[in-house]
Amino acid sequence: MIADDDPDGDWTAPGVFRCAPGVYRIPLPLPQDGLRAVNVYALPDRDGWTLIDSGWSLAESRELLGAALARLGAGFADVRRFLVTHQHRDHYTQAIALRREFGAEVALGRGEQPGLEEILREDGSPFDAHMTRLRRAGADALVRTILASRPEPGNVSEWELPDRWLDDGAEIAVGDGLLTAVATPGHTRGHVVFADDAAGLLFAGDHVLPRITPSIGFEALPAPSPLASFLSSLHLVRSRKDAALLPAHGPVGMRVHERVDALLAHHADRLDATLTAVGEGRSTAHDVAGALTWTRHERRLPDMDPFNAMLAVLETQAHLEVLVERGAVAHGSQDGVDHYTTS
Ligand SMILES: [Zn+2]
Repeated sequence: MIADDDPDGDWTAPGVFRCAPGVYRIPLPLPQDGLRAVNVYALPDRDGWTLIDSGWSLAESRELLGAALARLGAGFADVRRFLVTHQHRDHYTQAIALRREFGAEVALGRGEQPGLEEILREDGSPFDAHMTRLRRAGADALVRTILASRPEPGNVSEWELPDRWLDDGAEIAVGDGLLTAVATPGHTRGHVVFADDAAGLLFAGDHVLPRITPSIGFEALPAPSPLASFLSSLHLVRSRKDAALLPAHGPVGMRVHERVDALLAHHADRLDATLTAVGEGRSTAHDVAGALTWTRHERRLPDMDPFNAMLAVLETQAHLEVLVERGAVAHGSQDGVDHYTTS
């Protein structure tokens, strides 16, 4: 007997929870405490199971996924297919590890191809693009801190290309139902969500999260204006029929439209605050990030750990780029650093 999901309970508690007819949520642990866990959704399919996202390839995560599948009367060999919302390792790498052993098909949005090929380039470093952007943001000191404390280079062997690239609008029969892959670039350039329009469900990956605003363009090969892409993808999802939100991090229980409206309002506020800071004379993304507060705990940039400070500066840069596109601020560069002014 599988328990029904409780939207008010601790969404990270291990187990397997029925969140809609024929849809089971399996939270799996993450090593970093920020996001706490990742939800994998298991759907019974004709000849086994289809999983949406897979978890981070870690011993504890694999063990809990195996235990959850056992409660569903299945084993790893019964997983015939992984539909992965995006390339980030907490969503993608366990699918690759299990494919090596059990041969499941792995599908990923076509827009992830350039970024994944960049990760797989032997001489590349997934961090290079971020360091370049941070220097342009005037955050040289932060670059030095990050490079000095940097753990061993990422384990490239966790990564491989998928079996199948999903195009926008691809239809995937799962059991008696039909999922549509909808390209939602922004969080990463090839992010996709999976819509079950008949059942009124949206498997939203990291595009729409219930409690936090997703990071934007954190990938080896970011798109030119990732926040502009993200905002259009939010409008795209808002223009579709409303659905129950099945997020990759956080509890179920919200509706997609209400959460998208809140995310759009949040970014409108941040764009305003960014514009105000530029108007007050802060000219680089680093300086502007220092004028803002971060997370719902209203933290200041100097109090953040280097990784989160990096995300904050990159996000500020993304907001500044959108303001430039809208003609609200002017942009110039000096000694490789971008400067912004109000006209
Ligand atoms: Zn994630």
